Amino acid sequence: MTTSTFAALGLSESLLRALAGTDYQTPTPIQSQAIPPLLQGRDLLGIAQTGTGKTAAFALPLLHKLSGDRRPPLPRTTRALILAPTRELATQIADSIRTYGRHTGLKHAVIMGGVSQYSQVKATERGVDILIATPGRLIDLVDQRRIDLRRTSYLILDEADRMLDMGFIRDVRKLIALLPQNCQSALFSATMPKEIARLAGEVLSDPVRVEIAAKSVAVDRIDQRVHHADSGAKRRLLSDLLADAALSRVIVFTRTKRGADRVARHLADSGVRVAAIHGDKSQSSREKALDSFRAGKSRVLVATDIASRGIDVDDVSHVINYELPKDPESYVHRIGRTARAGASGVAISFCDPSERKQLQGIEKLIKRQITVVGAGPRPEKHEDAAPERRNGPKRHFGRQHPANANANGKPRRRNRRRAA
Ligand code: AMP
Repeated sequence: MTTSTFAALGLSESLLRALAGTDYQTPTPIQSQAIPPLLQGRDLLGIAQTGTGKTAAFALPLLHKLSGDRRPPLPRTTRALILAPTRELATQIADSIRTYGRHTGLKHAVIMGGVSQYSQVKATERGVDILIATPGRLIDLVDQRRIDLRRTSYLILDEADRMLDMGFIRDVRKLIALLPQNCQSALFSATMPKEIARLAGEVLSDPVRVEIAAKSVAVDRIDQRVHHADSGAKRRLLSDLLADAALSRVIVFTRTKRGADRVARHLADSGVRVAAIHGDKSQSSREKALDSFRAGKSRVLVATDIASRGIDVDDVSHVINYELPKDPESYVHRIGRTARAGASGVAISFCDPSERKQLQGIEKLIKRQITVVGAGPRPEKHEDAAPERRNGPKRHFGRQHPANANANGKPRRRNRRRAA
């Protein structure tokens, strides 16, 4: 069920006026599903990624509720707390709050690491209505008694899975323990790893669950292939593939931060211009890596799933899944990095014997079998494979790497053995 206007969602006149000044015509699905329960005071679990309009989905009801109850905040307190994993996200949220809240007269402040704390202390001295913070710096200020969270009535945890990936979950728990029990809370996460589901269970009480499926529009346009290879053969395979200049702007995904470092080191040693991005990297080195990839100075960006989310880079020619993600949805997120803005792209996955279950999960989710190229057998049985693939439809192999193709540029037939 979606609602077609912001007015019908019950938002106040001052917010509607601010929205009229934006180019938003209608609420996005997450907005029409999340705003009414949040206005009613319910807790909410939002499973949605950046790009769905999730910021407005929590910011609008928050602004509505705060402006409906004009008790001024006490010094050094905040009425609402929004926790975000990175400075970029905290800044973006603050920009949105400023835009949507411009006629409300509510006061907000941002607290984040990497910049002097002086102005942040000043901005919160008299109390604020909304505090947007990254966890580490907020803990510092709480420890210094510059901020008191005991008066907080609303909590938003944004991109919780990224907090986990960046090692902030303990800090987040510590902060949550300082909030009053009866805070109205919402947690947003693009994926639901176990730890986040547990955190949600602890923080949220009887939450409304809103799930916005990963955008799968691009999947059909992407030429998807899988190489079956032992894990020890993956490095070589990667180097072989990169010998082809058609792989001009490539994102290589690994499952772990250490894996990302190892692959990046290997590529750098082989003379490939490479940058890496993951949660253990400092903010400035992540920004540097991204800038270099965007500008084409690095041909390859090695990334973990969550660190890469929200990265906006056009013209990615190939996505390579060096390791398959545990969660099939992440595969869709990953390959969506190519084929942006109507372009077509190529996604190549490496699958070692221990990853075959994951491959099956992915094929089930995308409702198709991924074309097998390169060495190695097809895994045994694919119960869930789409029937039309079994009947041998026309196959499209796109830019086939010469090492894996026969003279006609088609994959070697023996490598395409399928399940009986
Ligand atoms: P978010 O998922 O919150 O990062 O939002 C993604 C982008 O969508 C941002 O640029 C927002 O300004 C924009 N946006 C949010 N809500 C709407 C809407 N209802 N209509 C059009 N654009 C929107």
